[in-house]
Amino acid sequence: MYSNIINTLNKNKLLRTVNDRETSQGRVIKINGRDYINFSSNDYLGFASNKNILNAAKVAIDEYGFGAGASRLLSGGIKLHNLLEKEITLLKGSESALLFNSGYTANIGAIAALTSQEDSIFSDELNHASIIDGCRLSRAKKYIYKHNNPAHLEKLLKSVTSRVKLIITESIFSMDGDIAKLDEINNICIKHKSLFYIDDAHATGVIGKGKGSLEHFGIKANNQIVQMGTFSKALGSFGGFITASNNIVEYLVNSSRSLIYSTALPAPVIAASLSALSHLKKHPELINKLKNNISLCRKYLKESGFYVDKYDTPIIPILFNSVEDTLKASDYLLENGIFAPAIRPPTVKKPRIRISISADHSEEDIFLLISTIKEALSSLSLTPATVSHSNE
Ligand SMILES: *Cc1c(COP(=O)(O)O)cnc(C)c1O
Repeated sequence: MYSNIINTLNKNKLLRTVNDRETSQGRVIKINGRDYINFSSNDYLGFASNKNILNAAKVAIDEYGFGAGASRLLSGGIKLHNLLEKEITLLKGSESALLFNSGYTANIGAIAALTSQEDSIFSDELNHASIIDGCRLSRAKKYIYKHNNPAHLEKLLKSVTSRVKLIITESIFSMDGDIAKLDEINNICIKHKSLFYIDDAHATGVIGKGKGSLEHFGIKANNQIVQMGTFSKALGSFGGFITASNNIVEYLVNSSRSLIYSTALPAPVIAASLSALSHLKKHPELINKLKNNISLCRKYLKESGFYVDKYDTPIIPILFNSVEDTLKASDYLLENGIFAPAIRPPTVKKPRIRISISADHSEEDIFLLISTIKEALSSLSLTPATVSHSNE
């Protein structure tokens, strides 16, 4: 049965494979003996191979060893875990924080714990798989609202009465790079006395001076807002977090299954995350460099006739009309030394090349990327999809 499924996927050009690197994450990566300029990493600030951060991890191994040996609730935590939680509350302006083993387990653990049968969840239709899985694990009623559409959200909210109403959105959407209308959604949450859950995976270290989406919108953290984030993207490390009111965090310690029943993160991982946060504070110019690269790439794409939306985020999708076209284009980029793989269903509805910009890219890298995409389109006679990918 499984081989039939694999054959069908292969026939439909939807079979995925892993691409393992031979070098560290960074601007240039080596795969199968060949160097590529890397446009497919979430390591937006180049922290994953930053020497200071790596050293912090090495020092922590010497002091605390490697494996944590148990869950946080037993003997798995060290004082660095707690220190990192304090740093996160400072970054996010909230009362309290709780580490999880990844962003994925933060979402499934927190969403499932915050809601049960008597509750309802309102979730953006383009929310990440980890949010969808959290909703599935929860016994709450689910309502999916149209992408980044506060009016539709409010219409659904008005039609429902329940104990907790949990509204969930990503801030920067991971596959489209657009930004949720957090100010409008926040007002709706206040009006309808709902809990607001924001997935800041791609916003932390990127917007709002690196603090994330609330800072970007000038919204103050409060007891009705739950912020989720990850150390694995702009911070170049690994692990997830939830930051919220004291009450909510204490409740999650007692009810999040992905926290309670899993071994704590190893000391070097926590030390790397701490070092990344300190590096972020000391080097605001890196965020500016990232911003300049983003503007350059978006501007040049627009001038070259591509549809580019108004959001200044490092995630820039180029949509195609078919999976086949997308694969042809990404293969052409590969042959020319550029790593920007196709993203296909079921990860996204519309196939695309998803460009990720980093502060480490040079202007030449970005020019090369776009001229190679243009070349790919003309030599393969491809046209990008004309539909806009977000509702502006
Ligand atoms: C990557 C991502 C996650 C998961 O974070 P990890 O730390 O990689 O597990 C959650 N939500 C969104 C929106 C993401 O893009």
